[in-house]
Parts: sequence; structure tokens; C-alpha cells
Amino acid sequence: MKLITNIEALPRELRESIKPDEAAFIGQLTDKGLLPFAVTPFYASLAGTDIDDPIRKLCIPDPREALVTPFETADPLGAARYEACPRMVHQYRDRALLLTNGACAGYCRHCFRRNWLARPEGFITEKEIRPVLAYLTEHKEIREVLLSGGDLLAAADDQIFWLLSMLQECGRPLLVRIGSRVPVTAPGRITPELINILCRFRPLRLVIHLNHPRELALRVREALDMFVKAAIPVHTQTVLLKGINDNVETLAELFRESLNLGINPYYLLQGDLASGTAHLRVNLQKGIDLYKELKAHISGLAYPRYALDLPGGGGKIMLHAESILAKRESPRGIVYVLQDTQGCEYEYPVE
Ligand code: SF4
Repeated sequence: MKLITNIEALPRELRESIKPDEAAFIGQLTDKGLLPFAVTPFYASLAGTDIDDPIRKLCIPDPREALVTPFETADPLGAARYEACPRMVHQYRDRALLLTNGACAGYCRHCFRRNWLARPEGFITEKEIRPVLAYLTEHKEIREVLLSGGDLLAAADDQIFWLLSMLQECGRPLLVRIGSRVPVTAPGRITPELINILCRFRPLRLVIHLNHPRELALRVREALDMFVKAAIPVHTQTVLLKGINDNVETLAELFRESLNLGINPYYLLQGDLASGTAHLRVNLQKGIDLYKELKAHISGLAYPRYALDLPGGGGKIMLHAESILAKRESPRGIVYVLQDTQGCEYEYPVE
């Protein structure tokens, strides 16, 4: 898959819009061990040249990524607590997460798995899949496997086929959920051959990462239509991002348009506490207010769940008007207090 990894290869107008501090920062990303810069030519073609353009913000590194606030960590979801074996996380009883691929079709500047991707890990190997299969075989309570990464669909067809075939070795049908941004950032990667492979491994669902209505360009719509026509259910997850989609009009258009394409708005996600992403996180109270207001603008079919992965491995909770129990000062700053399903308290920064 062709990726642009240096400024010189960007489309001319976008290249000329890069500020000196952005250029300097991009040049230091690898040395600093930060999330690399990579964007597909297609996604770069969607970006505007204004520094506040939402697509530009999603793909062009911002020097503020170097700032790590006291609440931010390399493992914001606390996945290490639930690591069953290398590349597999088993946090929820009936489902497990498999980190399949160390690459994506471009890197999102808000990525919460940025530290893992910065290493980079490559595609899961035969040696790595064996303990995964042993664990799945033993843990019969697992009914669903979420294939994430990185991005599985950024791999080659034969790698995808191999992995999906291997998963069948655990001896019982597993629902396969593929989390992917490829249909949005590299729609040309969605080919009839790929669709044919995926169709052989039902039950299978695709959850695409979609953040802005401008991402629904014609080629993206055509790629998504290939899944819909093949009867592969498609859901969306959207990260609520400051200055990108944190207003009712943008979100309503995004979810309405998704529904019109035959795909289901599933999650609106509050930003995780990943290192260097504070400038993109929306204040939690603002997010809750926005979500409430959104309800009046779209049908129930287009209304996603607003969710937060509690910091440090507390698990996912749904957010609503009563989610914030208190606002208080902590040694690290002012925080909102939230609760998991067991009643344990968690702190989430106000800023
Ligand atoms: S596609 Fe997902 S894993 Fe890859 S950079 Fe974007 S958010 Fe991170």
C-alpha cells in the first residue's frame, strides 16, 4: 500500500501549507519514538490547506503531540492488565482483542495505540498465533474476536486469509469483528478479491473508524457499498475530537449519511488519555451536553452510543447526563469522577 511518509511527497498545496514548526516536528518523530507520519495519497487529497481543516488535523502531525500531560500514558486502556498472551487482550468475558498488524493505512494523529504502532510490530507470525490459538481453544467462553492492530485490512490478502483460517482452528465458530480505517483512508484497497475472502469467514462484521462527513468521499462510499452488497454488516466508531467534529451539525451529518449508506453508527468515543493527545480531547462535560443535544437532531437509528474506556483498564462505560459523579481537585489537576459497573471510581481530567 502506497503511503506518503515525508512532506515532499504531499500534494503541492498541502505541502505548501505545512508550517515550519510542523515540518521540524515531523522530522523528529522517529528519533523521539513518537507515532510516525504516514498518510495515503487518497486521504491527503481530502485535506484542506487551512491549519484548522479537520482532515488536515487528522493526518498532519501537530507539535503539541510532544506534550504529555500528567494523566496521559502509553497504555491508556490498561491493556497490559488483561494480556492473555503476546498480542491478545482478554478483558471482557466473551470477547478478546487480537493485535494483528503493526501497520495502518496512514496514522491518525489522535491514535490511542500510538506507542504500540511506533515500535513497529509487523504482522502476527506463525510463532505468535500458536499461543493465541491455545488460549482461544482453552477459553471457550470467548465467542467473539476483535481483530485490530494497527489495521488488519492494511495487510495483504494472503495474510488476511491465513489469519482468518488459523482462527478457525480453535474448534468453534467465533464472531470475527474487524476494526478498520482502511475503507476510509485507502478505499482502493477494498477489492472484490478482499470481499470474497471476508465472505468465507462469516459470521464477520466490520467496524470502520470514521470521524468526519468529509471522509465520506465518493470512493469511500463505493468501497463501503461493496461490503453492504456482500451482506457484511458495517458499523462505525467515531472519536469525538476537538476542532474536528465536536459540534452537533458535523456529527448529525456524519451519522445521518452513514445510515443512508446502509451502515450503522455504533460508537461515539470520548478521547482516551493517550500521550500527546490533550489538544484533541473534548471536555467531558461538553461531550455529554453535545451528545444530549444530538439526540434531537437525528433519528434513533443514527444515534450511536457515547462511550469511554475508563483509564487504566476500568473497561468501557456508556456516558450520559448522570455519568459525572463529581468534579474535584486531585494531585494531578482538576478531574471528573466516574464509576465503572462495579462501583469503583475513576478520574478523568477536566483539561
Ligand atoms: S487506524 Fe486505528 S490503530 Fe491505526 S493509527 Fe488510526 S486510530 Fe491508530
